[in-house]
Amino acid sequence: MAYKDLIKAFEFAEKFRFTYDIASDTFDLEKEVLKHLETDRSHSSLIINEKVTPQIYLVLHKVCKKLRLNSNNVSAYIYSSSDNQATCFLGEKDKCTIMITSNLIELMDENELEFIIGHEIGHFLLKHGTVTHNSKMSKEDLIYSRYKEISADRIGLIASGTIESALSSIVKMLSGLSSAYLRYDISALMQQINNVHKGTYLSSESTHPSWLIRVRALQFFSMSEMYNKEILETNNNLGDPIERVDELIYNDLESFIDKPIRKEIEDSKKDLSFWIHIFAVLDDDKFDKKEQEIIKQEFGEKQLNKIKKILTSSNKEQSRNFINSLLEEKISGLAHIAPKESQIFYRNEINNAERKLNIENLESKIVLSIKKIK
Ligand SMILES: [Zn+2]
Repeated sequence: MAYKDLIKAFEFAEKFRFTYDIASDTFDLEKEVLKHLETDRSHSSLIINEKVTPQIYLVLHKVCKKLRLNSNNVSAYIYSSSDNQATCFLGEKDKCTIMITSNLIELMDENELEFIIGHEIGHFLLKHGTVTHNSKMSKEDLIYSRYKEISADRIGLIASGTIESALSSIVKMLSGLSSAYLRYDISALMQQINNVHKGTYLSSESTHPSWLIRVRALQFFSMSEMYNKEILETNNNLGDPIERVDELIYNDLESFIDKPIRKEIEDSKKDLSFWIHIFAVLDDDKFDKKEQEIIKQEFGEKQLNKIKKILTSSNKEQSRNFINSLLEEKISGLAHIAPKESQIFYRNEINNAERKLNIENLESKIVLSIKKIK
């Protein structure tokens, strides 16, 4: 199956991407590693095909068709486990592998399984990159990982075709309960969100948004103009514009999980910006009135007094060393929590400081000074 045959499916899925979710084309696994993985899977799990698992194959086939995808591009396996889990392995850009536990298959009806498989294929169609399960994901990576789940749920919804199945499969996954014990009264389900206390946040260590957020996000999406037009194929322009819907979902993610991390990133940026400017100011070993005014305008009087105090309480070399090592600490601090954002931010702040304080080659000066500490 050539890559170009996949373009239709990629383009179709792209329409539904959550605005804040960013595609990436990183596949960092080597061919040999991929071969080994495939061998391992073939030894330890059952591949879904027409002959051995006809019902499940039919579901997979139906999903692929709805997503404009040839089912040859998907390998799906089932393995025995009491967990309710489905994962998507993205090793190559023209193929995806889905792994589903036996328990999950047993728990879901066909429509619900369509949602699950659609969600996993969604990660592939939306180019969510290699999902390596390492513990080194930064806080920023985790925020973006949660955005990916919002997008993938939309593809799951399109695959299942009904919001009811999408929601029931999420609730079944969450509770482990079968249909015998569940009724999908959505408004009653969503009441649970009232138990969430204002100002308390969900741990930001999770790669997935909570089920409450996911259900609300799907509900918002199912009421969008885009969903009405593209999926329900109604001709009237009913529903909210997708931009509005994405904003609502973003606000949910912020107010239930991300706000404290955002603040941490913003504080860290402010700090870094301050020390970059101070470094630039001291380039000529002077801190004249004009420069002091700029620092005051940008960062406030308190910060200005703080730096004045440092400069008067130690000699030139001491304060220089102190500022160099602080700056180094702030650069690596931001890079640690937000590696992607930090690069852009750092560049911008260097440019700002150069412009405002009339200094050249600031970046290489910083690099040199930091080298000296090491
Ligand atoms: Zn997912």
